Amino acid sequence: MAWTERQQSMLQAMGLRVWSPAAGTDAQAGDEAAVPEALEPPQARAAPAAPVSAPVSAPGRAGQTADRAPAAGRAAAPAPAAIPAEAAAAPSTLRAPATGIASPVAALDWPALREAVAGCRACGLCESRRQTVFGVGGARAHWMVIGEAPGEQEDREGEPFVGASGQLLDRMLAALGVSRDAEDSEPARQVYIANTLKCRPPGNRNPAADEMARCEPFLVRQIELLQPRIILAMGRFAVQALLRTTDPIGKLRGRVHSYQGVPLIVTYHPAYLLRNLPDKAKAWEDLCLAAATAERAGG
Ligand code: SF4
Repeated sequence: MAWTERQQSMLQAMGLRVWSPAAGTDAQAGDEAAVPEALEPPQARAAPAAPVSAPVSAPGRAGQTADRAPAAGRAAAPAPAAIPAEAAAAPSTLRAPATGIASPVAALDWPALREAVAGCRACGLCESRRQTVFGVGGARAHWMVIGEAPGEQEDREGEPFVGASGQLLDRMLAALGVSRDAEDSEPARQVYIANTLKCRPPGNRNPAADEMARCEPFLVRQIELLQPRIILAMGRFAVQALLRTTDPIGKLRGRVHSYQGVPLIVTYHPAYLLRNLPDKAKAWEDLCLAAATAERAGG
């Protein structure tokens, strides 16, 4: 199987080695994992187009017309999946779920929301946190990454996805042609990164259901303010909370979901990928699906 230049760039960005039949040897393209022998580029497979799951909970939102051509340099992608009309358009309104923190959050602008999170004491995690971890990235970003909860380093630095998993995430995002540090770029090249929980669970324990529920309105408001064209949900707790399901990631990935009208792609958390290197190939497939979906959504 010959890899296109774009496919090779994407694999390299994720730290996957590429076998080149022309060279007859491994072409070093990374430092962590080899592509499984059976792996082929997703677009070369005979599998049907990725299915689209039903919208999760909220009614579709009034859409904005897609007005932007796909960004140059995006990763090669499989055949685009069909996206429901309400998911393919940029959202204009979101409805906060009737859980957790009271509705005043739904009226906050970015500075007020950040301030509210910084002072939040709605759950017990406020007792052990060093600081809250609000989010990072361009406020006009078309892409949004949603992870789980801050770890020790995030708690210390106040930014999501730092350290080794953050570096892997940045490489994955680079493969998509987007960056958290691209606030001066066009919105299609920007990504905003946030977690479902804004405070670190002690000892990196799993988030509790009531903590997730109490913190959720902050994330909902972030999504509402950002109005992303596509969401990349990473990790079991983030995915299950957003999609209101207990299904494992392995069962949810490979298709386009919808979060209140925004197309949502499920993939593994970078911290998991660092411990389970063979699954990087699956994550690469997820990124391909995300790239195709973003193009369809005008993002
Ligand atoms: S985790 Fe969320 S709800 Fe709990 S104290 Fe922190 S900001 Fe508030």
